[in-house]
Amino acid sequence: MLHLGKPLVVAIDGPSGSGKSSVSREVARRLGLAYLDTGAMYRALTWHCVSHRIALDDAVAVEAASRALDLELSLSPDQEYVRVAGQDVTDDIREPAISSAVSAVATTLGARTQLVRRQQETIVRAGRRIVVEGRDITTVVAPAAEVRLLLTASEEARMARRGIQLGGSQSQEQLAVQVLHRDAKDSTVVEFQRAADGVLTVDSSHMDFEQTVMAVVHAVLDAVGGHRKNG
Ligand code: C5P
Repeated sequence: MLHLGKPLVVAIDGPSGSGKSSVSREVARRLGLAYLDTGAMYRALTWHCVSHRIALDDAVAVEAASRALDLELSLSPDQEYVRVAGQDVTDDIREPAISSAVSAVATTLGARTQLVRRQQETIVRAGRRIVVEGRDITTVVAPAAEVRLLLTASEEARMARRGIQLGGSQSQEQLAVQVLHRDAKDSTVVEFQRAADGVLTVDSSHMDFEQTVMAVVHAVLDAVGGHRKNG
């Protein structure tokens, strides 16, 4: 049904808290595809810069770091690891200090060019059978992907998934501001709030995890001409 061996690149973009990463990983698992979390690459580069005290506003230094970065990333949806120069940074790159610094790196255009090139090479290395998720996958990294999706959710749903209650305590409000600020900064260099031409939108605001995974799986099967059961 899914033509084993035929190219099947599934490009998924969306804002933070849209459920992108967990949904993309599960879709890859169910369809027997590799999985690439491009956000982890931006986070790993940020971790490297922070731990080597490279000033994030020094575009030349950040770009140089992006060229030299010794990065290994799991492409298996069943195993998660990120290594920088052999060091396991899987958990470190999710720390709040990295989350709040990552946009500065991601808006350095020279560094983006380097990471986009690595992402495109990775797609080829995976035999073009891969789910790739991020912010600019449908538009820049893999505009010719067999399936291109924008996974969105209302602001309320996105905050709730991050464990943030709008109208909650002051620290909750601060977290909300941080997430929204990151999306606002990111969208100065990449458009991921609106679907580009030919990109299908999946709005997960009123869907649970399983429903969202199935909506994406169905979109993939429809796009590649597979048959699906009802429901
Ligand atoms: O998806 P995640 O929240 O891990 O992404 C971390 C950051 O990496 C984003 O806030 C954004 O700054 C950057 N990013 C990007 N382009 C991508 C993926 C992530 O700019 N394709």
